[in-house]
Amino acid sequence: MVTVTEALDIISAVVKATREQRNCPLEQALDHVLAESIYSPINMPPFQQSAMDGYALSMHESLNYRVVGEVAAGSSNNPSLKPGEAVRIFTGAPVPDSANSIVIQEKVTRKDEVLVLDDAPQEGANIRPVGEQLSKGDVVLAAGTRLSPASLGLLAGVGVSAVPVYKKPRVAIVVTGDELKAAGEELSRGQIYESNGLMLSVALKDKAYVDTFVLKAEDKLDTLTKTLEKAFEAAEVVLVSGGISVGDYDFVNEALSHLGVKTHFYKVKQKPGKPLLFGTNDQQMVFALPGNPASALNCFYVYVHLALKLREGDAEARISFRQATITADFNKKGDRAQFLKAKIGANNTVEILNGQASSMLQSFAVADALVYMEEDMGFVAKNTSVRYLKID
Ligand code: AMP
Ligand code: MG
Repeated sequence: MVTVTEALDIISAVVKATREQRNCPLEQALDHVLAESIYSPINMPPFQQSAMDGYALSMHESLNYRVVGEVAAGSSNNPSLKPGEAVRIFTGAPVPDSANSIVIQEKVTRKDEVLVLDDAPQEGANIRPVGEQLSKGDVVLAAGTRLSPASLGLLAGVGVSAVPVYKKPRVAIVVTGDELKAAGEELSRGQIYESNGLMLSVALKDKAYVDTFVLKAEDKLDTLTKTLEKAFEAAEVVLVSGGISVGDYDFVNEALSHLGVKTHFYKVKQKPGKPLLFGTNDQQMVFALPGNPASALNCFYVYVHLALKLREGDAEARISFRQATITADFNKKGDRAQFLKAKIGANNTVEILNGQASSMLQSFAVADALVYMEEDMGFVAKNTSVRYLKID
C-alpha cells in the first residue's frame, strides 16, 4: 500500500515520455502537445492594417481634408494621398502607404468630399503596423505548448494548417464483471448495467485521447487473461475496470502478472479507490481501476490522466491542486486520504456534496472539483482552506 503522494511520485518516476510525433491537422490538434516550435511564415499583420472604421489621412496643418476614395477590408487598393487628402477606410483594410493617421468616424463631420476633424490627428493612430503581433520567422508557439483553442486560432491566423504534435496512445478499456449487461438488455436478478466502459472512454475523449476501444471480460482467470492479452496486443495503454479487489472472483492482478506486467503499486491509502494497481510491461502501461464507478472515475482524474500526459511528452504534467475554503464542517474518518466530490462556489469556496459513496455517481455528475483531504486530516472546520483538483 502506498500513499497518494507516493503513488503520484511513482507515476512521475516510472512513466517515460514516448515523444512520438505525427503531423496533425489543426482541427484534430486540440489538447495535443506541440512537438516542435512553430515559426511564423508571414508577418502578422501582413500589411499596415486599419484598426478602426474611419478615415485614413495624409496629415497636414488644417483640420479640413478632402475625401478622394475608399479602401474596404480585402481591397488591394493603395491610393496615393497628397497632404490634406483622405480615404474612407474600414477595420482590417490595408492602410495606403501614403497615409500616416486614421481618425475614427465618430470624430469627424463629413459633407460630400469635405471632411472636418474634431481634433488634430495623431501620427500612426489606429494603424496596426506590419508584423505588430509577429514578424516572419518569429516563434509563434514553443515546443511543449499544449494546444488550446486560442493557440490553434493563432496558428491558423499565420496560415499554418497542420503541426507536429506528440502522438496520443491508443487506449484499451477492459471491463470485468459477470453481472454487467449492456443498455437495452433486460436485467435479471443480480445484474446491473455496465457504465464504466462508456464513462472512461468519454473521459479519455474529453482529454483528446480519441483512439479507444472497450473489451468485455469474464470473471474467470483464463478468459480474462486472454482478453487482457488482446488489449495489450492492440493498445499502448490498458485501463481495466473491476476485478482488482480482494474478492474470490477478482482475477485482474493475477492475470496481469501472468502477462508479465510489473506492478509499481497496488493499493493506495485513499478513499475512494483503494484497490488501484499501476503496472508496466516494456512500452505499455496499465491501470487496474476499481469497478465502483465513482472510484474508477476518481482514479482516472487523479492518476490516469497524469500518466497519459507524462507518457505523451508533456514535461509540465503534474497534478495541480488549488486552494479554497470549505462551506461546512467535514469530519474525515480513518487514516486514508479522501477525494470528495465538490462544487466550486463564489468567493473561492468549495462545497462538499452529499453522496460520497464509491458506488454512486450522482454527486460526481454535478461536481466540478475533487477536494483532497490528506491522510492525517480529521475534523476540518467550516472556512478552513483545503486543496482541490478542478475537474475540467
Ligand atoms: P469490483 O471492483 O469488480 O469488485 O466491482 C465493484 C462494484 O462496481 C460492484 O458493485 C460492481 O458491480 C460494480 N461495477 C464493476 N464494474 C462496473 C462497470 N463496468 N459498470 C458499472 N458498475 C460496475
Ligand atoms: Mg467485479
